[in-house]
Amino acid sequence: MKVLVACKRVIDYNVKVRVKADQSGVDLQNVKMSMNPFDEIAVEQAIRLKEAGTATEIVAVSLGAEACQETLRTALAMGADRAIHVHHDGGLEPLAVAKLLKAVIGAEQPSLVLLGKQAIDDDCNQTGQMLAGLLGWPQGTFVSRLKVEGAKVAAGREVDGGIENVELKLPAVMTVDLRLNEPRYASLPNIMKARKKPIDKKTPAELGVDPAPRLRTVKVAEPPKRQAGVKVDSVATLVTKLKEEAGVI
Ligand code: AMP
Repeated sequence: MKVLVACKRVIDYNVKVRVKADQSGVDLQNVKMSMNPFDEIAVEQAIRLKEAGTATEIVAVSLGAEACQETLRTALAMGADRAIHVHHDGGLEPLAVAKLLKAVIGAEQPSLVLLGKQAIDDDCNQTGQMLAGLLGWPQGTFVSRLKVEGAKVAAGREVDGGIENVELKLPAVMTVDLRLNEPRYASLPNIMKARKKPIDKKTPAELGVDPAPRLRTVKVAEPPKRQAGVKVDSVATLVTKLKEEAGVI
């Protein structure tokens, strides 16, 4: 069984994001970038399926600028077998990513496609769902348990009331949640070995997809600063302040 994993290069989760002075977006100059944390979980799951003898090949795919190859090298060092980089300078919206992934999937024919539940930069939570829709494949989203059983995959989904257990026919698309596993660190020997693993390059034109954005960002702004709190000495003062100053009761 071939497993395809989508890996997005995003601002590292430890970085405090700064808005650009012209409010056109966030500042990416000299900022540490990493693989989207949910995609690390997806890569880890694919590796576990291979270690269990269920998966035979893991293909990591990243879409975006040249530097996405660093993200793919991380996936290869963790244990992916090969990688595909769809090169595009400029923004890619979830619909464009889904269309490009669909084209890659058409050529690769994987049985299982794993994505993160969301990318921590734009928090869209759309790509996996759009991809499943475009492919006409079953989808399991927010997956925190996953077991391949013959031609089916059983999954536990994180929903408000607890875990929803679903069973999907393969081929299927799954988006993974935080509790599915704890991703491994790549060892130094594996980082060295990953340098020799192949990364295929494609362009949106070769895949027959127009990646032009359909949305226009009007303005990006910092959230308003929180005001300092005050201590009150009695419930009566609190109620007066809530009534007269905050106007909430
Ligand atoms: P989003 O819908 O933007 O929140 O992204 C959900 C998931 O789609 C991510 O966790 C990735 O697995 C995948 N994805 C989105 N954009 C890209 C990209 N440019 N390259 C590779 N995977 C992506």
